[in-house]
Amino acid sequence: MVSAPETVRAAFRKHFPDGGAVEIFRAPGRVNLIGEHTDYNMGFVLPMAIDLCCLAAIAPANHGKLRVYSQNVQALQEWPIESISDARPAGNWGDYVLGVAQQLARAGFPVGAADLAIYSTVPVGSGLSSSASLEVSTALALLGGRTIAKKDLALLCQRAEREFVGVPSGIMDQYASVHGERGKALRIDCRSVSHQAVALPDGAAIMVVNSMVKHELGGSAYRDRVRECAEAVEELRRWSPKVHSLRDVISTDLAPLSGVPLKRARHVTTEGERVESFTAAAEIGDLKGMGDLLVASHRSLQHDYEVSCEELDFLVDTALGIEGVYGARMTGGGFGGCTVNLVAIENVENFEIRISSAYEIAYGKIPQVFRFLPDAGAEQVL
Ligand code: ADP
Ligand code: MG
Repeated sequence: MVSAPETVRAAFRKHFPDGGAVEIFRAPGRVNLIGEHTDYNMGFVLPMAIDLCCLAAIAPANHGKLRVYSQNVQALQEWPIESISDARPAGNWGDYVLGVAQQLARAGFPVGAADLAIYSTVPVGSGLSSSASLEVSTALALLGGRTIAKKDLALLCQRAEREFVGVPSGIMDQYASVHGERGKALRIDCRSVSHQAVALPDGAAIMVVNSMVKHELGGSAYRDRVRECAEAVEELRRWSPKVHSLRDVISTDLAPLSGVPLKRARHVTTEGERVESFTAAAEIGDLKGMGDLLVASHRSLQHDYEVSCEELDFLVDTALGIEGVYGARMTGGGFGGCTVNLVAIENVENFEIRISSAYEIAYGKIPQVFRFLPDAGAEQVL
């Protein structure tokens, strides 16, 4: 089998035959174990970096442009270096690269002419954060040897996604891609932008099932939820001026709310509490407790936050009937993408077979099933 670094190097050679010697950088995708839709509410999340990544191969050039080829999209884009600082988004994948280049320049790291080849093993658009792994690997490649604090790297990539690409994303994805630790999940405080590593107990595997669907509603619903949470905060502020985000309230403080704002705020506040309980359960190796919290998270996303969909509910409900499954929930923004499942090690193979065949019979699609090990964060590989 051809390794991912060999693939990106071959793509570079093919599309930039006159290019110089390459350096290669990798940045992992991530799966969020629990704490969904809490990041942009300044709360806690618990993702882990996964052993799938985006690779960026780069060499300096003297043609005065930034040229980038994506092996996944099989397309090339280029921009004159002097146009980068005032560039506007074009509405396609190149925006992630251009946005990062622009943010680097603004942060005092001007980008020189270069050829860049990208190849990612993270499934694109499935909630495993191919976008952050693209941003972070690109940023490291464009930085060359210049150093930047890890936290600033994550924040810079988040700004590229928020301000240039135009997705109001929280800090979780970029932070996890930068700070991943082998064997550990990261409990991230999205307000202080800091983390604590959480060891995951032996005896259970993190299994991720990709529904292979992405409903159109996803993008607009994400923006709607961001807005609805802000509206709930407005409402709560009338009662207590100390409330600046849903992070500042607990689930028993929601009496002033009703209807949709109540449901959204109830999800966000109980989900924050579940991150705390899940971390505590992981620390004492309580797999059953962890599994129950995953299920509670899913039900809250399904009924209160209303970001699940038929396929994700099917995958969760089916998983819960399979031997050795402690718990399951949708992960990522919702309306498609993946579920995350906590499965006893000895039942992993059976789980894979049973979940795949049930989904194929019901939806006529074969889901991708992954067993992920928590991996290290972004780094130079060559
Ligand atoms: P996710 O981050 O969950 O995979 P997003 O919708 O946030 O989903 O980001 C997916 C987008 O990121 C793609 O539509 C594409 O524009 C861009 N992208 C990610 N990986 C690559 C890649 N390897 N090459 C080109 N574009 C990519
Ligand atoms: Mg993304």
